[in-house]
Amino acid sequence: NRYEQLPLKDNKKDEIAEMTTTYNALMHRLEDNYRKQQQFVGNASHELKTPLTVIESYAKLLQRRGFHNEEVAYEALAAITKETANMQEMIMQMLQLASANENVEMDLALTNIEVLLQEIALMMQQTYAREVHIQGHAFTLLTDAVKLKQLLYIFIDNARKYSEKPIVIMMNPAKQIIIQDYGIGIPEKDVPHLFERFYRVDKARNRKTGGTGLGLAIAKELADILHLTIHINSTVGVGTTVTISRKDVGANE
Ligand code: ADP
Repeated sequence: NRYEQLPLKDNKKDEIAEMTTTYNALMHRLEDNYRKQQQFVGNASHELKTPLTVIESYAKLLQRRGFHNEEVAYEALAAITKETANMQEMIMQMLQLASANENVEMDLALTNIEVLLQEIALMMQQTYAREVHIQGHAFTLLTDAVKLKQLLYIFIDNARKYSEKPIVIMMNPAKQIIIQDYGIGIPEKDVPHLFERFYRVDKARNRKTGGTGLGLAIAKELADILHLTIHINSTVGVGTTVTISRKDVGANE
């Protein structure tokens, strides 16, 4: 610290030392953000390249053999359609994550949680013919219903994707929402990483189910905004339990 040798009063030196510490901490944070941003861009382009390569090769196949062979044409078009949908989903999720840190507007209202859950359950029934059982006592939360519904949807949709049996959702007196599936489960070593962007337990299987690995990263951002905590408990081959709780339990009640 060269300023130590300068002919300054001690309190000035203290002030400079303090400023230096603040400055260093700030730079550190900026560098960290920058590194994360770079990593996100790198991962994103890699993830988008994969479906793009598949689309390209099927387009070439279509060009070479599609005009003479109807079966080949159907296969290629089906693959192209699927990969395009996958890319679209990924781009939408990336955009959401990219804007997650900007000022978020909250639209707070007293929200009946059972009603929200029933809306999602109906959707699961109509779109995927999957049963969802809602149990426990209905409660209300002062929250942003649109954001909370999006968060709940991510977990319930994962329960659907990674299990085949009916999904059970419980509301308990502590105002927790518990989403329970009886599916493939998650290995213990993977659980701490689930909220990382692009993290998937099984890449090969995910390419089939069309997962992006961004769902839970978005869920984490939403949970932070909504002051909720998420706890995941899972056993391979048995199933997964997701518990969503309020961060500030007891604050106003
Ligand atoms: P994805 O779009 O791949 O589902 P997510 O971020 O939502 O991405 O989830 C990350 C990974 O966590 C998934 O790829 C999957 O391997 C695993 N996972 C999430 N929820 C469940 C669940 N209910 N049961 C089993 N595995 C799950």
